[in-house]
Order: sequence, then structure tokens, then C-alpha cells
Amino acid sequence: AKRNGRNRYQFYNHQLDREQLERVELENALFHALKHQEFELYYQPQVDITTGLIDGAEALIRWNRPGHGMVSPGCFIPLAEECGLIGEIGDWVLEQACAQMHSWKAKGLHLRVSVNLSALQLETPEFCHHLADCLSRYDLESDQLELELTESILMKQVDQTIQLLEHLDQMGVHLSIDDFGTGYSSLSYLKRFPLDKLKIDQSFVREISVDQDDAIICRTIISMAETLNLKVTAEGVEYPDQLALLAEFGCHQYQGYLFSKPVPADELARLALENHNE
Ligand code: C2E
Ligand code: CA
Ligand code: CA
Ligand code: CA
Repeated sequence: AKRNGRNRYQFYNHQLDREQLERVELENALFHALKHQEFELYYQPQVDITTGLIDGAEALIRWNRPGHGMVSPGCFIPLAEECGLIGEIGDWVLEQACAQMHSWKAKGLHLRVSVNLSALQLETPEFCHHLADCLSRYDLESDQLELELTESILMKQVDQTIQLLEHLDQMGVHLSIDDFGTGYSSLSYLKRFPLDKLKIDQSFVREISVDQDDAIICRTIISMAETLNLKVTAEGVEYPDQLALLAEFGCHQYQGYLFSKPVPADELARLALENHNE
């Protein structure tokens, strides 16, 4: 190794080596995780604001990494995207979500599940085929599945993406835009995509009841979505006063700690059965 603090340059190099090493370690651990089933899907209820009923759930990946506890996706999804593992992880997520819907159906629980997609997944030519195959193997209607896309995914290769989304829409799969408001797309532009839903990013919901600007943004998104015939889900709802405002603005659905944090599949089933029988 290098001798003690010779100069800045050396120090910088040393840091880089360390970071690279940690990256390689994490990459290896991700490969291992796929092989050894260390991933798990958690589910967060999506609640109809008018009826108070759970009408769907968002699947959120977790990594039960030995010696590290539950690792959140923010810590490994970006790396999985960079090192090319996101395709396999994404396939696993779709497969697992479909298997879960199938077993919930057997319990009499009909829930739509939303799955988060990465740009690279949509770019694989077999994506639609894989998806159709998954749905049919688990004997599911395609409208039970919702795909969450980000504005940046949509804006990437617009014409190609429109074609692909039209195909998915014709299959009957629901399409929503995640983190809406944080990207650069305009609502008028979005008209070109066959979307079903916008999800208002939690950054606008957080201070909705204290920050006038955030309240106006939420109200505007909701009323414009209405004219485009899109449903709206608010994310990150933690307090009753946030929910009250969203209801007043005509928002359709919400997710957030106020109702429940993301939970394991069995827990979600328990929550939903209880909620439906109330
Ligand atoms: P996201 O899709 O925007 O998911 C919402 C995040 O907000 C989740 O974090 C969720 O646990 C958190 N959340 C939910 N309710 C509340 C609340 O009331 N307050 C606050 N402060 N947070 C709340 P999580 O599970 O850590 O996921 C982070 C991101 O990782 C997701 O953001 C999504 O972009 C990505 N991700 C998760 N699962 C997958 C996956 O299977 N595939 C891909 N490609 N990305 C995934
Ligand atoms: Ca999402
Ligand atoms: Ca549709
Ligand atoms: Ca989101």
C-alpha cells in the first residue's frame, strides 16, 4: 500500500480503490442473492380514498442480506442497473408478484399488484413476451397487474416507448407514472401515452398542509389528470390532515404510513381481509 499521506492524489486513488472494491463485493453479493433467494417482496396497500378499501398493493423489493439485515432497494437497485443484473432481478420481481397474486386469489383475495420497472427492463425485446407468459402461467387476468414507470423512462425513446406501451395497454395491463412531478414531462405530452394513473411524488405530499405551493401542485395535478381521464394515487401519506386535503382535491387513492408501511405478503393478506370484512 501507499506510504502515509504522501499527497492528495495518492489519497484520492486510495479512496477510489476502496470504493471499487466495495462495489465489486456488492455486485458479487447481488449475484449470490439471486441464486440463494435472498430477495423478498414487501407490499404496501393502496387505498381507495372514497371507500377506504384496499384495492391494490405496490410490490417493493427487499434484500435479506446475511449479516446486514433487510437492505432497502435504494441501496442496491441503482447498482443492479449499472452492472446488468436488473434484468434478472426484474424478472424475479414479476414472477414473484404473479405467484403471489395467484395464491391470494386462492384465498379469495383479488388485489391488483403494481410492480416497479427499470428502463433497462422495458428495453429488453422479450419483455412483453415474458410478461404475458408469467400472467398465463399463474392464470391471471392482465388487468390485475400494474406497471409503474418513471417520467425519465417515458422520455427516453419516446416513439419506441409509445409502441411498447400501446402493446401492453392492448394486453390489458395497467400503466402508471411513478414519482409524478419530479421529471420533466408535461401533462399534455403524457396524453400521447396510454396511461391509467399518475402517482404524485411524496415530496409534494409531505408538506401539503403547510406549504401553499405544494397544495397547489397537488390540486393542479389532480384536476388536470381528471381532464385526461387518469386516476391519481398520492404517495407518502403519513398524517390525517394530508389525506383530508387530498380527498378534498378529488384524489382517488393513497399509499403511506398513515395506513400501513410496506409489509410481507402474509401480513398484507391479513390487512386486506380484515379491511374488506369491516
Ligand atoms: P417508489 O417506487 O417511489 O416507492 C415508494 C417508497 O416510499 C418505498 O421505499 C416505500 O417504502 C416508501 N414509503 C411508502 N410510504 C411512505 C410514507 O408514508 N412515508 C415515507 N417517508 N416513505 C414511504 P422503498 O421500498 O425503500 O423503495 C425505494 C425505491 O426503490 C422505490 O421508490 C422504487 O423506485 C425502487 N424499487 C423498489 N422495489 C423495486 C423493484 O422491484 N424494482 C425496481 N426497478 N425498483 C424498485
Ligand atoms: Ca413505485
Ligand atoms: Ca389501459
Ligand atoms: Ca414513487
